[in-house]
Amino acid sequence: MRANGRPLTTTSPTAVRNLGILAHVDAGKTTITERILFATGAIHKRGEVHHGTTVTDYDPQERDRGITIFAAAVSCTWSGHHVNLIDTPGHVDFSDEVERSLRVLDGAVAVFDAVAGVEPQSESVWRQADRHGVPRIAFVNKLDRAGADLDTAVASIRRRLGVVPLVVQLPIGREDSFTGVVDLVAMRALRWRADSAGFESGPVPEPLREEAGERRRLLEETVAELHAEALEEFCADSRLRDGTLARALRELTLRGDGVVVLCGSAYRNRGIEPLLDAVVAYLPAPTDMPPVRGAANGAEADGAEQERAPDPAEPFTALAFKVTATATGRLTYLRVYAGTLRKGAAVLDAATGRTERVGRILRVQADRHEDRQEAVAGDIVAVIGLKSARAGTTLCAPGAPVVLEPPTVAEPVVSVA
Ligand code: GDP
Repeated sequence: MRANGRPLTTTSPTAVRNLGILAHVDAGKTTITERILFATGAIHKRGEVHHGTTVTDYDPQERDRGITIFAAAVSCTWSGHHVNLIDTPGHVDFSDEVERSLRVLDGAVAVFDAVAGVEPQSESVWRQADRHGVPRIAFVNKLDRAGADLDTAVASIRRRLGVVPLVVQLPIGREDSFTGVVDLVAMRALRWRADSAGFESGPVPEPLREEAGERRRLLEETVAELHAEALEEFCADSRLRDGTLARALRELTLRGDGVVVLCGSAYRNRGIEPLLDAVVAYLPAPTDMPPVRGAANGAEADGAEQERAPDPAEPFTALAFKVTATATGRLTYLRVYAGTLRKGAAVLDAATGRTERVGRILRVQADRHEDRQEAVAGDIVAVIGLKSARAGTTLCAPGAPVVLEPPTVAEPVVSVA
């Protein structure tokens, strides 16, 4: 498992996931983030939220070393994929920040509490993500709590969010004795070891076979209703079944026609590895995203509309989404949408017409910054050397000025009572 933590030196944009965790305050976002960093080997010691030692929580030592604690983005690796975790404020009061983070991520995990189900605040964040068309999977957390029930939480997802749940796991045990899940796609049982040192995968235990079989059929039927072509493939070649089901789930996720639902207990470190597998399997890569659009001449836009595809060969185009002051210097976090940025290159802030040089390109990790020679379309990095760029500024190649349009925000979705 730890091998997942090996740094990837070069990453194809298809193997990048720019991920946000969307959650109601207290649903467990900090704990999940920290467990993800642990599972991916990005950190080696688990902290506990109530001890104030989690990496993503405030820590004066981290600040002294110049490493952001509420890092705008933290990178880790899983199954040969580069996962950039983008911080999304949990509180709707930080709406501008929520909007900006939704703009730079490509997919999200929406976290729900297994006892409370969908709460008003999780509903607001869900609607915001709907408006930005962010593909999502759902994680029902705190399955270890007294009164936790996956079916009830799933029913509230269906009722309150008006989305079709695609439940891909069956919990093994309830509340305090929640010890594992049956993966309904692979039809395997995963059991976490009591000492939190990973999990064991095995055949579905006999007493659960019938229920797992029924739930798998229900999943297939739901997928087939939403996705007629998948049904034909199921019938045509049963050997393709699992692969086909996974592909259909991915397509439904990207189209927003259904939401894959997983479950676990972040606190007990149960459910994190399958969640990461689902992030890689179902959520989009930067290359799945449509080109970004903008106006050629920036503020005095008399020029033609421009499109920039997520391709390293396009003219460099990026959005600054967070600026933080650290001991290392002024860090400007960028989402690169197109082209390649090389260390030392000049970049243009097309709105002000000012050109500045990028001194360093950093990938921010939980406990260190990694210097990089370049960043390509799809990457999220922090750069040092820019003095004037603000959050929301478009940065581009001096020869190809463009100001990115504000995100196209769809009409609000009417809330389902
Ligand atoms: P955030 O506000 O969404 O970042 O939530 P936190 O990660 O800070 O968690 C809020 C509280 O819920 C903390 O006291 C956690 O220890 C607790 N918590 C998080 N995950 C779980 C879980 O899976 N089970 C239980 N029982 N408690 C959890």
